[in-house]
Amino acid sequence: MTPILSPALTGWLSQPGESLRLAEIVIRRRPPGFLLCHHEDVRATEELLLVLEPEALREWSQTDARGMFRPNRTAPGLRRGWKCLPLTGAALEVALDGLYPGAIADWYSVQSKTATVTSFREFVGRQTGIYRRVSELDDAHALRIVQAGCESGVCLRRRLWTVADLPTDGIGEKSEVPCLEPCALLLEFARRVQALGKDPEVDLPLRTGEIDTLRACVDHALTQPDAAVREGDMAAPLNPRRLRLVRNRLAEIARAEENPRKES
Ligand code: SF4
Repeated sequence: MTPILSPALTGWLSQPGESLRLAEIVIRRRPPGFLLCHHEDVRATEELLLVLEPEALREWSQTDARGMFRPNRTAPGLRRGWKCLPLTGAALEVALDGLYPGAIADWYSVQSKTATVTSFREFVGRQTGIYRRVSELDDAHALRIVQAGCESGVCLRRRLWTVADLPTDGIGEKSEVPCLEPCALLLEFARRVQALGKDPEVDLPLRTGEIDTLRACVDHALTQPDAAVREGDMAAPLNPRRLRLVRNRLAEIARAEENPRKES
């Protein structure tokens, strides 16, 4: 019996190619069905990969290699070492929705021009309760938040909404999974940054070499993340988004120092 597929998945599968990429996974056509694996395992010996049932992928994607909960399933860090051999397109639907909930439907809505994209301003403007004041962030701060909070190191969704004059993510920059409106993680990050903005500003005169050391420390913390820090814990100073915000700020300071020196 021919499986009944959603129009979204039918549209996705109609793309040309022996294999299709969705964020961190590869979907290979393997008649009469499809084989799924992590893109970094494409050349691995298939027999050595753990066989997962399509229904098991949802749970598999909920934790990373350290066993930490992944609040954003489109964040880089999907565990490797598995394969999934759904025999029918219907099982493929279960597998993909388990790994990346709503991704194919969002992709299809963009392709069929029915997607509703919500800008940062529109999104924060409708927040209530503890998030109400996020709308008070000025453009400069909102820009920094989005640059640090949505970059490819923390999220592979392609941002189609914008703030201030920040361009949307280009095709091929992150993945084909679209982001149609700011997510809860970004909102919480924005709330935390806004709260930090009330802290007194510290005048910290540093030599350029010292700024270089600070930048190296932040880069090190980003490449060797503290296993105890949860992605969603924005109160933690070593939170990956907070580290990126500081890294970008230090780069801005270094650039501002560079320019007058070049001009003089
Ligand atoms: S708002 Fe940013 S972090 Fe959240 S899903 Fe969209 S692109 Fe990713």
